[in-house]
Amino acid sequence: MAKNIKLLETTDSTPPATLANGTNGTNGGHGTNGTTTVSPTIAPITSPVISSAPQEAPALDEHNPIGATPYDPPADRHASAYAVALGQLDRVADFMQLDDDMRVYLRTCQRELIVHFPVKMDDGTVQMFTGFRVHHNATKGPVKGGIRYHPDVTLDECRALAMWMTWKCALMNLPYGGAKGGVIVEPTALSKRELEKMTRRYVTEISPLLGPERDIPAPDVGTNAQVMAWIMDTISMHRGYSIPAAVTGKPVSIGGTVGRESATGLGVTYITRSVMKQRMGRGLDDAAVAVQGFGNVGSWTAKTMHERGARIVAISDKFGGIYNSRGIDLRMLQRHVADTGSVLNFNGSDTVSNEELLALDVDVLVPAALEGQITKLNAHKVRATIVAEGANGPTTPEADEILQDKGVLVIPDIICNAGGVVVSYFEWVQGLQSFFWNEGEVRRQMEATLLDNLEAVIGTTTRRKCTMRTAAYIISIERIEEAMRLRGFYP
Ligand code: NAD
Repeated sequence: MAKNIKLLETTDSTPPATLANGTNGTNGGHGTNGTTTVSPTIAPITSPVISSAPQEAPALDEHNPIGATPYDPPADRHASAYAVALGQLDRVADFMQLDDDMRVYLRTCQRELIVHFPVKMDDGTVQMFTGFRVHHNATKGPVKGGIRYHPDVTLDECRALAMWMTWKCALMNLPYGGAKGGVIVEPTALSKRELEKMTRRYVTEISPLLGPERDIPAPDVGTNAQVMAWIMDTISMHRGYSIPAAVTGKPVSIGGTVGRESATGLGVTYITRSVMKQRMGRGLDDAAVAVQGFGNVGSWTAKTMHERGARIVAISDKFGGIYNSRGIDLRMLQRHVADTGSVLNFNGSDTVSNEELLALDVDVLVPAALEGQITKLNAHKVRATIVAEGANGPTTPEADEILQDKGVLVIPDIICNAGGVVVSYFEWVQGLQSFFWNEGEVRRQMEATLLDNLEAVIGTTTRRKCTMRTAAYIISIERIEEAMRLRGFYP
């Protein structure tokens, strides 16, 4: 396909032969014998600490265009998520000439809670775990954001993800601010019983921040509907009555909404298809698509794009990837993943590394794994026409510039993967009202919300002569700024 879009603004590891729990290794499950490889990462503080910002914003470093933070990213991510988030904000703040007081306010997270807590494991030993919950900005309402279980979770990562949630909720015009939380843990190394106990204790530790009118968690990497059910139950037990609206992404049988599980991936598909139609005069029919990550977002994006005619030629997970130029049979792949724990060694496909997948000559590349994947080190290798950001923060600001120069259109995360939080909002509303919608209604309202706000973003790219990311940020920041000025600065 011709790269006809001109933008305006100037480590794979080895997979287990079979995972003991028979899952794809992303969303928890039983271990074989109750032993765990979790290493308790204990920070030098011994009790939960609420650090109530404001803190001094990190100084900008002209030699480090993505912003300075004293944080080394994990080896498989080449950039600190927090540095990326600050760098993105600073660039847009410069572009829109945002007041310095607003810039410093928005660079700063409002509340940060670090907790260290014990869990009695199946073998009788006690393991210490460390978790976080961060509120970035609560001006527009209660804060909303996922909970991540991953060995590389850090406070900085939670800050970045909370900040992105603030922009995403404002862009979707939802009455929320942004939050994020997580625990440093490899969830697949825990038994189901250990995972439940760890979840209930973590939620108890961060419970002063939670509640349907205060902070509403949702699933993210390494957590799923079952984990959300335990969170909802824990909060409900503390209060003495059921509070379904305390969390979203929970099972339908306890007050979840139909359509939430597929929402993020389906939203990526709606947005990508609409952008392709508007910018390239074609839909997804026979579009070659590569997807990095085959968890909730990656698998639903692949499925829903395929249902609309796309050929999914490459898919990866944390162990590596597979490639078939004629298209991968997704139903058979799901079975293969359930049996082996990975997409690797799938019949009829070639093996590609995650790095190679990012460089495939495809129409659409969907990074749907973790942040910091497309950086200044590999952006020049990207050959896709469109990068549709299913993950949060997969592209650094430096990579953005390289992609722009190459004519690659980037659909930014805060609109591309917003289907999840939009349907989470519907779930919260349904929970508060105890009145539930059918799936057609959920999908119709989600598509309308996403496409209305996409129109606003595209209109802004034309008016302000900027990229989609800059346009999306401008809209979000203007909405938050207006709300902040109207509310005033207490006291
Ligand atoms: P998940 O845990 O269900 O799946 C993550 C997938 O990424 C797995 O297949 C895993 O093997 C793979 N992976 C992990 N590390 C990798 C690496 N280094 N290289 C390649 N693949 C790797 O998580 P998810 O819920 O699908 O979330 C994926 C991304 O989407 C995250 O950035 C998350 O913040 C974002 N997101 C999720 C939602 C949601 O509703 N779940 C909503 C918006 C954004």
